[in-house]
Amino acid sequence: MDSRLEAVYEKVIARDGSQKEFHQAVHEVFDSLAPVIAKHPEYLDQAILERIIEPERQIIFRVPWMDDNGKVQVNRGYRIEFNSALGPYKGGLRFHPSVNVGVIKFLGFEQIFKNALTAQGIGGGKGGSDFDPKGKSDAEVMRFCQSFMSELFRHIGPNTDVPAGDIGVGGREIGYLFGQYKRLRNAYDAGVLTGKGLDWGGSLARTEATGYGTVIFAQRMLETKNDSFDGKTVLVSGSGNVAIYAAERAEQLGAKVVSISDSSGSVYDPNGVDVELLKQVKEVERGRVSDYAERRGNGAEFRAGQRPWDIPADIALPCATQNEVEKADAEALVKNGVKLVAEGANMPSTPEAIETYEGAGIAYAPGKASNAGGVATSALEMQQNSARQQWTFDDVKDRLDNIMTNIHDTCLEAADTYGAPGDYVVGANAAGFVKVADAMMAQGLV
Ligand code: NDP
Repeated sequence: MDSRLEAVYEKVIARDGSQKEFHQAVHEVFDSLAPVIAKHPEYLDQAILERIIEPERQIIFRVPWMDDNGKVQVNRGYRIEFNSALGPYKGGLRFHPSVNVGVIKFLGFEQIFKNALTAQGIGGGKGGSDFDPKGKSDAEVMRFCQSFMSELFRHIGPNTDVPAGDIGVGGREIGYLFGQYKRLRNAYDAGVLTGKGLDWGGSLARTEATGYGTVIFAQRMLETKNDSFDGKTVLVSGSGNVAIYAAERAEQLGAKVVSISDSSGSVYDPNGVDVELLKQVKEVERGRVSDYAERRGNGAEFRAGQRPWDIPADIALPCATQNEVEKADAEALVKNGVKLVAEGANMPSTPEAIETYEGAGIAYAPGKASNAGGVATSALEMQQNSARQQWTFDDVKDRLDNIMTNIHDTCLEAADTYGAPGDYVVGANAAGFVKVADAMMAQGLV
């Protein structure tokens, strides 16, 4: 890393010593920026690096709620409003026991550049809680969401900060959060949250958008090599929102998806994942991938405690969580013939895994580019809310297709400009950073 970037990175470590995921995210971006600051020394003069790593505002709050046994529980809530140079803060809420300030800061930092790449006029933010919705009743989830929103509502708004879903926050949670916001504000501010139900302000194709977008991005990558998804064997990890729709789109394009996973293990499904069954088990019954394997039969096998990365395939789409592909996993991917990795999750590959892909010549798309379809479609939901319209599924899907194609092309153009042809990591980081940095320069020292 360039010594001037390294000096700022050292300050992050000194100031936020325990936030290891945040360090990782900053390191990955800064590692790409040497040619950018060489071309734009004005960014150093105006301390853009020091400013961009510091959230504009960090909100941490108590979330007390009562469980079904009448016992009081206390969780911690977060909203990190990272950067508003390009528009209102935008980014999801994650409810998972692993959530802490470092996790939310890594996600918020990534979100700044991802949102810039979408060209939709949205800033970067992220939030969540260490609350675990797994195993909770609907009534408990509702009471938690209402308590969470009773603090969050004063910080958000359709032109200020617009949260959405992420791990552990889907349609049910967005519904409860929106209901409480509406009650507290006495206003139907549809554009305050995205991922809403289709009858009350949601956008068609938002549910599908992140997974579909990841596959569209990978499709564009394949096309640069005159290749396609048709006939390919694909590994998907995770079994939530992103994984389900990545698998669905890959299969629509003629691929065979042979894996899914959750935190208890993975399923090898040699005849191709039955996406309708997966939706039934996960979205309707809130079951596990082991339940899917049992119901699927047809040679499907649940592999307790194992990730999918040792299964032979052509393409890998990590869609579960951060750091789920480590060095040994990446080596297995290389050994088994994988030629392309496109991330549906945020930061699923460790730095060592990325080095392994690069060393082996695997085409690799970082999440901040390839999974940007979710937030881009959230921005389309905000547009529909402002216009009090609902566009058709095909209209939204076509716009998503265009946005993903633009992001793909922007990454490749920036990679060329900054001396790293074909490198999607440099391209995504440089293009996203320059856009935000230029807006910050224009807006003065705020
Ligand atoms: P969901 O909650 O719908 O699904 C998450 C999936 O990941 C589940 O299968 C879950 O399994 C698995 N998972 C979570 N933690 C772990 C872990 N520690 N080890 C193994 N598996 C794990 O979330 P999403 O599908 O929405 O999100 C998945 C990823 O995509 C995240 O990185 C998120 O930040 C990213 N993303 C999501 C977007 C969206 O629009 N939803 C937009 C852009 C990025 P289990 O049930 O066992 O926990």
